[in-house]
Amino acid sequence: MREPDAETTVSEAIDALRVKGYDADFSVSEEGLLRCGQCGHLHAPEDAVVNVTYRFEGASDPDDEAVILGLTCGACGSRGVLVAAYGPSASPEDAAVVAALGRS
Ligand SMILES: [Zn+2]
Repeated sequence: MREPDAETTVSEAIDALRVKGYDADFSVSEEGLLRCGQCGHLHAPEDAVVNVTYRFEGASDPDDEAVILGLTCGACGSRGVLVAAYGPSASPEDAAVVAALGRS
């Protein structure tokens, strides 16, 4: 028996999303908005369409605390991947976006 959450790494999570057609890349802008790498549209995090969430706790290294999200861009319809840090090493922008996405 395999326990996916326990054995999945950040790179495996990204690969799994790529295989599912999440070809675009999302990033967090300086304004704390989600930027679609495909069309450049800026989305408020509350408006983001989150399809898949992977959380990594970084038990051995706080720098490994990360959230991998599979998102759909509401402007161009592209599916893409956002990699955001959280925890002590996260930037304020990343932390705010992750918090907002977690509420949705
Ligand atoms: Zn887009």
